[in-house]
Amino acid sequence: MWFDAQTLIVVLLMNMAALSLAFPAIMGRHLSSAARRAQGSLVLQTLGWAFLALSRDGTPLDPLLSVLSMVGLSCGMAMLWESLRCWLGPRRGRRLVWALAVAMPLGYALSWGSYPVRVGWSNGALSLQMLAVCAMLLQPAPDNGRGWRWLMAASLGALAAVSLWRGMVGAFFTADYPSFRTPHPAMLAFGLVANLAVPLNAVGLLVAWREEAERALRTLARTDSLTGLLNRRALEQAALVLLQQARRHGDALCLLLIDLDRFKAINDQHGHAAGDRALVLVAGAVQGTLRPGDVAARWGGEEFCVLLARGSAEAGVAFDARLRAALAARTGAALGFHLDFSSGLSLLQEGDDLQTLVQRADTAMYDAKAAGRG
Ligand code: GH3
Ligand code: MG
Ligand code: MG
Repeated sequence: MWFDAQTLIVVLLMNMAALSLAFPAIMGRHLSSAARRAQGSLVLQTLGWAFLALSRDGTPLDPLLSVLSMVGLSCGMAMLWESLRCWLGPRRGRRLVWALAVAMPLGYALSWGSYPVRVGWSNGALSLQMLAVCAMLLQPAPDNGRGWRWLMAASLGALAAVSLWRGMVGAFFTADYPSFRTPHPAMLAFGLVANLAVPLNAVGLLVAWREEAERALRTLARTDSLTGLLNRRALEQAALVLLQQARRHGDALCLLLIDLDRFKAINDQHGHAAGDRALVLVAGAVQGTLRPGDVAARWGGEEFCVLLARGSAEAGVAFDARLRAALAARTGAALGFHLDFSSGLSLLQEGDDLQTLVQRADTAMYDAKAAGRG
């Protein structure tokens, strides 16, 4: 045989230790909670394997090292679940994974006297944890690419299968596999699969991390940094879809352009910071006045643009009234001065695009300004 159990364990440990050092080096300092947990999971599992590699059958430290190793492995798997949850959103199975993280080392320690029981129990529980992680990876996650989830699920699934095999052999065919390092095919298969699964899992984690950065960038590119509303570019994209839908179904579509009145004077009298606070407040009121399917954006400095899906002229006027009421209720107490706006409305017509809709709303808005504002 050109490899043995001890070599496989040492290579696996080197593999994991290298990854535990490489991840922080690659990911840098400013980490999301998902990336932090992924690193924690790697470190815990590396410690688990280190304790296991150090343990020697029959030595006085063997029980302590072995139990610590089980703690590292089972908590590392639970931590992996946590990191994936941060990336993928709420999932089922959290309680199971943590219950096993506690019960596995505990049962292992309590059954120390019986090799078949502790081998069967620890491998069975660890396999179950891995399968729980597989299951959560494969639950739908619309915002995440599938490639890395399948890669991780496949490698964890394979690892769960060989762990289960090893546990079964140790529990029920103990004479064939009487100690951890016995070169039984189940142990060798486990060592080989683990050496493949660990780097593949790491690749999966790195792709998940890159996707997170891409999502953050996409959000950044679509959002106005002061108010958190969509920016002009994002509204232009959303408008393409809304216009297309309105045309296809023959629906109405209403656009509102909202411009704060005498905002220059507000900046002059109360300061630019108060002006900023006012813009944030108006954005919150606009957002709170929207109905599902409508979109709003900060169109320019103190101008906001709202698209009401299936919106008639009445819907536009009603939106304007609700926003006026919301602002009247909030501005005095929150800002210490009053805030008003003028708005213009346009309705989708044959041959319109966003530009022509905005142009008509803009003209109407300036008419409102000329007619006395508010
Ligand atoms: P009106 O629209 O009623 O005719 O008067 P106005 O004073 O609002 O006129 P105008 O549209 O010309 O002025 C807009 C002002 O909004 C000018 C600019 O200083 C201010 N503004 C634009 N962006 C920001 C911002 O991000 N923060 C603050 N504080 N002020 C801004
Ligand atoms: Mg303006
Ligand atoms: Mg203005």
